[in-house]
Amino acid sequence: MVLESLGGRITGALRKMTNSTVIDEEALKEMLKEIAHALLEADVNIKSVVELRKNVTNRVNLEELAAGVNKRKLIQKAVFDELCSMLDPGTKPVQMKRGKPNVVMFVGLQGNGKTTSCVKYAYYHQRKGWKACLVCADTFRAGAFDQLKQSATKAKVPFYGSYTETDPVKIAADGVDRFRNEGYDLIIVDTSGRHKQEDSLFAEMEQMAQAVDPNDIIFVMDSAIGQAAHDQAQAFKSKVKVGSVIITKLDGHAKGGGALSAVSATESPITFIGTGEHIDEFEPFNTQNFVGRLLG
Ligand code: GDP
Repeated sequence: MVLESLGGRITGALRKMTNSTVIDEEALKEMLKEIAHALLEADVNIKSVVELRKNVTNRVNLEELAAGVNKRKLIQKAVFDELCSMLDPGTKPVQMKRGKPNVVMFVGLQGNGKTTSCVKYAYYHQRKGWKACLVCADTFRAGAFDQLKQSATKAKVPFYGSYTETDPVKIAADGVDRFRNEGYDLIIVDTSGRHKQEDSLFAEMEQMAQAVDPNDIIFVMDSAIGQAAHDQAQAFKSKVKVGSVIITKLDGHAKGGGALSAVSATESPITFIGTGEHIDEFEPFNTQNFVGRLLG
């Protein structure tokens, strides 16, 4: 069975409402029920879902609408706006101070685009005038250091890593120390991933966070993750202080409905999206564009 995506289900519910001959309370209720089901099944927290339902119902008072008002458009707009506010966790992204050694640690499962995003993040900030650098503390995946080294060199971002040291926590601490002493103001630490959520990964991640005391921890998530988004994001959040989320591979087919669940689970804002393999295919997150695409 192919599970329909969250975006697909919401769009389906909206379309059904749009296509019904009469737009009355009943049609609105039915649509909201379907949207709420889809969101709850994606593990978006119940409070946000109840709020979406309530806010759309309050905004779309069908009985009091003047003749000629396009009810379909009005309802669509209300749902759109509510999905946008669902992507706002109410917390601001961590503010970094220029001229101070800000340490940002990237976490996520293997293959989600963590290393690629680290380099993109460094490059993005370097172009904005930050003195950025990269520490490769991924000793788990063979070739991780080479991969980072290659793309960091291409991006002209200084990097630190080791072929001989096997303790990732030591590498992270040494790298961060060195760059702190050298006056870098954005020190990005790439950590090991695993294929799945494993205790060993989380233990290592916690030790690393303790050793480098990051200003922000960024959770990197593949947009194609679908229903597992909530549990995965929550597992990371429960171990370390995730402060922001990056969603990758939005250039693919996935619409990224999992982002709603990730925001809900981490109570952290999405700050950037990855839109390709190339270093500059990386953009600050724009809520309206994202929801437009989710429903498009
Ligand atoms: P990690 O194991 O989490 O560090 O993942 P990598 O950074 O090595 O990325 C895994 C694969 O995903 C690589 O082939 C990357 O080129 C690719 N990738 C990462 N981000 C994006 C993206 O935004 N779009 C596309 N199309 N591919 C990406």
